[in-house]
Amino acid sequence: MLISFEDFQANLSEVKGQIEAACRAAGRDPSSVQLLPVTKNHPVDVARYAWEAGLRAVGENRVQEALGKMGDVDPELRWELIGPLQSNKAKKVAESFHRVQTVERAKIAKALDRYAGEAGRCLSVLLQVNAGRDPAKSGVELEEAPALLEAALGCPNLRVDGLMTIAPLSDDPEVARRTFASLRECRDSLSDSFGVELAELSMGMSGDMKEAISEGSTMVRVGTALYGQRNYAG
Ligand SMILES: *Cc1c(COP(=O)(O)O)cnc(C)c1O
Repeated sequence: MLISFEDFQANLSEVKGQIEAACRAAGRDPSSVQLLPVTKNHPVDVARYAWEAGLRAVGENRVQEALGKMGDVDPELRWELIGPLQSNKAKKVAESFHRVQTVERAKIAKALDRYAGEAGRCLSVLLQVNAGRDPAKSGVELEEAPALLEAALGCPNLRVDGLMTIAPLSDDPEVARRTFASLRECRDSLSDSFGVELAELSMGMSGDMKEAISEGSTMVRVGTALYGQRNYAG
């Protein structure tokens, strides 16, 4: 069931080609968009594939699953949390992950800050914003984003690198595009009012990379297009 390295390489060059085409269409430099392979629900082998192919970070959405894999890959591989985080896992996460993309409450920011400090680390975070106003999606509401940013900027052991969003499920690509445009506008407005860069816009997945890149994504999080369906047990 595990995808072969050769098939992964073929998928990877396909995905890279799509990213380049989307960048060309948007008049952007392809090096301004990072590809984050999403290894969740796959065996650890696929994180090794990413490393072998020269990618240096992977995304996981469950804390426990990621912790179980970390020891089995080159220790230089960076792990980014892209799934929901409960405070009872904040200590482990602050000690082990390189970035948390899903900070959506001040309470979580403060917990991560405390544990990162205790571990003597500075943890990179993104604020997850519900830019598509989707009741089914996590993330801080657009109106609450300034208060969350203020709280996060008050955390000395966190570095707020930008924002992340997940577009609502829809057959209409315009829904995703509008969501991504809202995230960019939210970032621009926060950046102005707080005088911080917030350079990272983590948006776009296998199905909506093109829309995300045309709206300014700096990081696409791609699982299925690289590794195939994840409906089997690792
Ligand atoms: C699973 C997941 C992805 C990857 O989705 P694909 O459609 O498989 O590319 C991206 N972002 C988040 C937050 C995810 O949970």
